[in-house]
Amino acid sequence: MNLLIKNGTIVDSDQMRRGDILVQDGVICRVSEQINEHDYERELTIIDASGKFVLPGLIDAHTHYHLVSRGTVTADSFKEGSRLAAFGGVTTVIDFADHDKSTTLLNATKARKDAMEEGMAIDFTLHQGVYGMNERIPEELAALKESGVRTIKIFTTYRNVGYLIENDGLRDLFTACRDLELMVCVHAEDDDLIQELLEEHGDAPFPPKAHAVLRPAEAEARAIHYVGSLAGELGMPIYIVHLSSKAGFEMIQRLRVKGIQVATETTPHYMMLDRSLLEGEDGPLYIMTPPLRDTFDNEALWKGVESGAIRIVATDHCTFTLEQKLSSHDCRSIFPGIPGTEEMLPIIHTFGVKQGRITLQQLVGLLSTNPAKTFGIYPQKGSLEVGTDADIMIFDAELPWTITNESEHTAAGYTPFHNTEVVGKSIMTLRRGEILVDGNDYYGESGTGRFVKAGTPGVYRKHSH
Ligand SMILES: [Zn+2]
Repeated sequence: MNLLIKNGTIVDSDQMRRGDILVQDGVICRVSEQINEHDYERELTIIDASGKFVLPGLIDAHTHYHLVSRGTVTADSFKEGSRLAAFGGVTTVIDFADHDKSTTLLNATKARKDAMEEGMAIDFTLHQGVYGMNERIPEELAALKESGVRTIKIFTTYRNVGYLIENDGLRDLFTACRDLELMVCVHAEDDDLIQELLEEHGDAPFPPKAHAVLRPAEAEARAIHYVGSLAGELGMPIYIVHLSSKAGFEMIQRLRVKGIQVATETTPHYMMLDRSLLEGEDGPLYIMTPPLRDTFDNEALWKGVESGAIRIVATDHCTFTLEQKLSSHDCRSIFPGIPGTEEMLPIIHTFGVKQGRITLQQLVGLLSTNPAKTFGIYPQKGSLEVGTDADIMIFDAELPWTITNESEHTAAGYTPFHNTEVVGKSIMTLRRGEILVDGNDYYGESGTGRFVKAGTPGVYRKHSH
């Protein structure tokens, strides 16, 4: 389809101007103050964006759609994940491939990629989990890089399920990643501290609210210190996923003062929600790991986003149905994870832009340009540059509405932001020039989403976060 988006206010991460965008064959062909449709022979579909903003499609850099875990599968399939994402203005996600230790990392990536290519309607790339180190891993990482996956994900916790790489193994893994210019993403929670607290807790009950006590902010800060110091020693960057606490944020700042390159993301739920939600009857619905913290943590994360110290907001979208979530009230066995991709834009716009904490350009940076640069898919994704994928979102910044369990498209059947009044909604989403969402209608088709090959992560190119 060939499109002309007219009269909108075009916003990317560094400027805002009135203008038109011409899209042909899925690619942005021209961006100009005024484009006359009669100058073109091909038939053009005109989209009038008067009074609206035209943004690059958003990128959720942290999702788990169709995750098979803990003897079950998450609520949102690739099909449902694509749909809810498109309604939230998201045209690309970065999902995760688990480390299946019975095969190579490349095979694990391939299996995930094949499954996603079949189910997705929006584009995607991958982070590859690495949960064990051996002498073959460096070679496997080189093959991974060749295939277009440039980030790995490790855990500093979950020793009990074999996810934790320790000491020399971790040093060897980091060194291999540094030499290949792969980004190491870390789920940072100190396992020793968590085990100590569990022992102290003994046979006391484990209600949802105990989750926050047993996995405290201090565990996050300690783990960040550990992996950050190791990265510093090896002279390489590191990336902390889903930063949840003030203590963790301050630790990152301390490491940066020493010249260590620590990049990070936080999520709307760690910015907006706090642990008091764990105390109600529906406490299990708010369980994710790391757990929700205190209001001063929310505030510290907002401050970090405002100042630019935190440059990416992603969601860790990992959903379970009400039935799955409420099947346990023991914080050790409640399925961890919540919806987020669709809520990301209205939440950050309302509580960030509308409240004067950040500008609309900053929002575009946080939700699109910065993740694209950091994970090596810029400017193909995250930009409105001529010659790049026509992933475009038309945004009505003045539309007031209320996020409810019914308004959202997740198969979870609930949203942690139920009854939140927001302003601003993505009203049209284009992926490579194809209309996926127009108002309340969805046109995405499984099998049309493409894998995006990542290039060198931004930190390795610019030597700064
Ligand atoms: Zn995650």
